[in-house]
Amino acid sequence: MSALLIIAGTDSSGGAGLTRDVAAAAAMAQATHHYCETPLLLRPVVTAVTAQTDRALRDVHPVPNEGLLAQLRAAIETGPIGAVKIGMVGSPTAAETIAHFLETELPDDCPVVLDPVLRSTSGGDLMQAADLTPLIMRADLITPNLSEAAQLAGQASASPLTDIATQARQVISLGAKAALIKGGHGTGAMSVDHLFEGDQCTAYERPRLSNGKRGTGCTLATSIAVQLLTGHSLAQACANAGDHVHTWLKAPA
Ligand code: PLP
Repeated sequence: MSALLIIAGTDSSGGAGLTRDVAAAAAMAQATHHYCETPLLLRPVVTAVTAQTDRALRDVHPVPNEGLLAQLRAAIETGPIGAVKIGMVGSPTAAETIAHFLETELPDDCPVVLDPVLRSTSGGDLMQAADLTPLIMRADLITPNLSEAAQLAGQASASPLTDIATQARQVISLGAKAALIKGGHGTGAMSVDHLFEGDQCTAYERPRLSNGKRGTGCTLATSIAVQLLTGHSLAQACANAGDHVHTWLKAPA
């Protein structure tokens, strides 16, 4: 049985990061009844340790490069990897190290989902968009929100659909095979995520919810990675994972 490799930072508030990824992966697997037949194996690799409350990003300690590489090597030696989810990367050097590792150690057909974490809503920047380029080049899917898409596309802001399509093309031109531009931070009664894959654009519309939760981006990207690991197409994975996250968002915090 292959495992999900989760490469992410920790968040001491528990709202986002690796803890959220692990919880999301277990919940997504259970929702698809995958758990009952074969347990989902997780290999967590820590890129950075953050000290956060819900209101403040106090401190970030990137894991030294040697420690990051040692974790990656040990994770892959433990057994086959069926999909990879990358969240907070921690530093430009870590981005290079992870990209090189995936390039040399991971089979080409192993799906990689990259959540381009640039900022914590608890208040603080976590990475510069340009420093993610080496990882974008190996991503089968990148999942920016509207502001991340604009930053990746080198723009100051974004909004109408034409902009989103242009941004998606620019993000994909950085090397990702597909982009899911999340509309959760937009306006209007419906929240619309757009999947751009080749010439295709698929829109996923769900009623916009008034309550937000931290860790929504982590939850969605991890849920998509679980779906890809269990053999779903990218479009189906985005649909199933998006529905699952919508249900999670509706539940009380
Ligand atoms: N902190 C860490 C360690 C994360 O990995 C992430 C997202 O992946 C965040 C913060 C940002 O999450 P949010 O935007 O919900 O604050």
